[in-house]
Amino acid sequence: MSEDSYSSIIIIGGGVIGLSAAFYCAQAGIEVTLIEQSDLGSGTSAQTARVVRGYFPRRVADSELAVGSLAEYRGFAAETGVDPELEQTGFLVVLTRGEDVETLGRELDAQRAVGVEAELITAAQVCQRNPFLDPADIVAAVWSPQAFSCNPQAIMHGYAETAQRRGVRLLTGMEVIGVDAVRGRVATTNGDYVADAIVCAAGPWSGRVAAMTGVSLPVTPQPSELMTTGPIATDMTLPFTLHLSSALRVRRLGDALLIGLEGIPKGGDQRALWHRAVAEELTKRYARLRDVELHTAWTGSLDVAPQRTAFIGQGSGSHRRFLYAAGFSGRGLCQAPMAGQIIRDLCLGQQPAVDLKAFSPIRLDAEPHPAAKRLPT
Ligand SMILES: Cc1cc2nc3c(=O)[nH]c(=O)nc-3n(C[C@H](O)[C@H](O)[C@H](O)COP(=O)(O)OP(=O)(O)OC[C@H]3O[C@@H](n4cnc5c(N)ncnc54)[C@H](O)[C@@H]3O)c2cc1C
Repeated sequence: MSEDSYSSIIIIGGGVIGLSAAFYCAQAGIEVTLIEQSDLGSGTSAQTARVVRGYFPRRVADSELAVGSLAEYRGFAAETGVDPELEQTGFLVVLTRGEDVETLGRELDAQRAVGVEAELITAAQVCQRNPFLDPADIVAAVWSPQAFSCNPQAIMHGYAETAQRRGVRLLTGMEVIGVDAVRGRVATTNGDYVADAIVCAAGPWSGRVAAMTGVSLPVTPQPSELMTTGPIATDMTLPFTLHLSSALRVRRLGDALLIGLEGIPKGGDQRALWHRAVAEELTKRYARLRDVELHTAWTGSLDVAPQRTAFIGQGSGSHRRFLYAAGFSGRGLCQAPMAGQIIRDLCLGQQPAVDLKAFSPIRLDAEPHPAAKRLPT
């Protein structure tokens, strides 16, 4: 092992991020042990809306990771023998305020420079793409064709099987209870493990895992919920549709619609209030759905980092052997392939393909973008 490259690693967490890192690191000849406290893919990665897309408004660095990841997903079946079941839906960002049209319009060149395909379209074109929308207060939209529904379980299965074929040890039902990144040692409920470096990919629980070795990684679990409608009569492939002003998201799932809204449906009265807010926002934006039934689709824990952009990198000084990829804040599936490749590059002592500044905890010292704090898109 040279000071800046690692020939063996322990990955903590068997979600889409840990499995992607295992897949790419094993491909590069690194000896990998992955430790998962429960079953593979049973954490946040089991709860997604099953959308992968390339465009993240107001977040060019996130788009860059996602666009690179989409390219990897396109080659996924050939690489792993498992079909990720990508079905193109496209992505519609509906704008109801003139200032958003200006801001997103100005940013399009920077988005295109990192590979995003996106264009501003008129209100009439918006309603052609999603006829359920109420045109009343729509000013314009950004349309990006680079969005797909997918099968996250198939993706994780493909990563896990291929990684295992490449020699990765996948240890499940084993909780990590202590981390000494200085010595490369991990204590679990089933004994200790040692490697050149340790990778924290523990999803929403990454803050707790990092704290075991004295590293501050402010990632926390946030309760989250998706709602579903009853059956909707249409044969159209509806785009994944986001209202920028409220962060209402709607996508088709089978013969129903899957709906998400920002906010934290904790429980009791708060959850009831959140349910009411979803119903109100939905009927405001989709007048044709006024009488539709709404049910809880599933609940989960969102992997939230401040400013809603993931932390990907490695510690400094005596914690250099502690690497992390966590806090994807609702876009881990979109960014998993590139996150795995970055971990591989750091383990090899090579420069990753993207600038990691936007993904460093150091960014927390900088002034947060006020809109970024308010609207995770
Ligand atoms: C409702 C909802 C919808 C979403 N929709 C989308 C979407 O459509 N597209 C998208 O890109 N993203 C979406 N996301 C976000 C996405 O789910 C996450 O960003 C992604 O799954 C994070 O993957 P991960 O591997 O980091 O975390 P996880 O899947 O949570 O994996 C972490 C693993 O670490 C394990 N672990 C934790 N602590 C320990 C320990 N001490 N010892 C051993 N193991 C441990 C956990 O058991 C877990 O399996 C959504 C999230 C939610 C909640």
